[in-house]
Amino acid sequence: MIDSMLQNTYDQVLHRNPGEPEFQQAVREVFESLEVIQGRHPEYNDQGIIMRLCEPERQIIFRVPWVDDEGTVQINRGFRVEYNSALGPYKGGLRFHPSVNLGIVKFLGFEQIFKNSLTGLPIGGGKGGSDFDPHGRSDGEVMRFCQSFMTELHRHMGEYTDVPAGDIGVGAREIGYLFGQYKRLTNRYEAGVLTGKGLDWGGSLVRKEATGYGAAIFADEMLKARDSSFDGRRVAVSGSGNVAIYAIEKAKQLGGIPVTASDSSGYVVDENGIDFELLQQVKEVERGRIVEYAERRGGSARFVPGGSVWDVPVDIALPSATQNELDADAARTLVKNGVLAVSEGANMPCTPEAVGIFHDADVAFGPGKAANAGGVATSALEMQQNASRDAWSFGHTEQRLTEIMKGIHTTCLETADELGRPGDYVVGANVAGFRKVADAMIA
Ligand code: GLU
Repeated sequence: MIDSMLQNTYDQVLHRNPGEPEFQQAVREVFESLEVIQGRHPEYNDQGIIMRLCEPERQIIFRVPWVDDEGTVQINRGFRVEYNSALGPYKGGLRFHPSVNLGIVKFLGFEQIFKNSLTGLPIGGGKGGSDFDPHGRSDGEVMRFCQSFMTELHRHMGEYTDVPAGDIGVGAREIGYLFGQYKRLTNRYEAGVLTGKGLDWGGSLVRKEATGYGAAIFADEMLKARDSSFDGRRVAVSGSGNVAIYAIEKAKQLGGIPVTASDSSGYVVDENGIDFELLQQVKEVERGRIVEYAERRGGSARFVPGGSVWDVPVDIALPSATQNELDADAARTLVKNGVLAVSEGANMPCTPEAVGIFHDADVAFGPGKAANAGGVATSALEMQQNASRDAWSFGHTEQRLTEIMKGIHTTCLETADELGRPGDYVVGANVAGFRKVADAMIA
């Protein structure tokens, strides 16, 4: 429910952004939280802050021509939405996936504003990407695509302007090709212009692990706040990319038993707990399919083609694949099976209906903009290391990440308490993230 002033603003957002359901969903969720602070901050209304915040500062759409291995010219579309720079340079990943369009990039960029604000670090919000699909493409094809993408994007970037990183389909390989092209075009070794770099050329230890680690740490904090823990509890993780792999590793370190991982063809369930090293080998080193994990593991593991990872009975769920992957039916199944906590490793993986079901069942629910903020927070730590021409140890960087995640958890909980919504991490995250950006815009 949102009140008439917010409804009016929301109607304008709908009118101005037709055909962008994910963006509209992300805005609606924030508006529902802002309802709780209506009347407390007349300055936000006077200055039209909410409407201003919904409109990106700049949206860049460009053609990306490149030549495939057959010598055929291919055309993709590139995007960068520079959403809000009140707190610092635009910061957010690039997603290369066939589903990418302007609405998807805007939803992700909008979320990124509040997420980055919650980290407490000086970073604004942005997002970008392309409908290019790296799957099944050779290294040469991916390189030529990245070089062409950067040929346009470079003029909009800068360590004080806009600092992209990875997201789905963009890992260290792609960041390497992008950084190399940026360096050639500008003749500058500007390390802080991209994050997620390789460790030999300005990257940060723990960046690769950070999003997944952070989502598991956030779940642990939510459990601790309820006098519970990961100890001996079964954990379902969806996805098998960067986020999922390291959410599994951290869940295990915290005492949990992660039993699942998935990709677009199905999921594996391993009753003895996922073998982290094998998963890393299959998915990260060999870029294989998740079915190969089950084939090589044998015995305790089986592959389920299609189907939903959320059918597996677990105590903790870490959705770490993509948006709207966990719907009302899945939420009902998880609740029926007694789930205690859900921490979003991906961006907006739970539908609004699913979130409502978790709240009604008193399941601890950590929204992505809080729970998965460890990735971008560690990107900001990478920028700090680049700015001071330094390289921190794994231990020090992980400690900083852990402190940041605990800080975000406390901020969300305290804000929710202050607003009379104890335990509501969605309201806590949205309001705390929003206030800081709004106050900076007014200032
Ligand atoms: N793509 C990640 C996210 O959704 C990380 C962004 C970054 O490191 O800039 O937050």
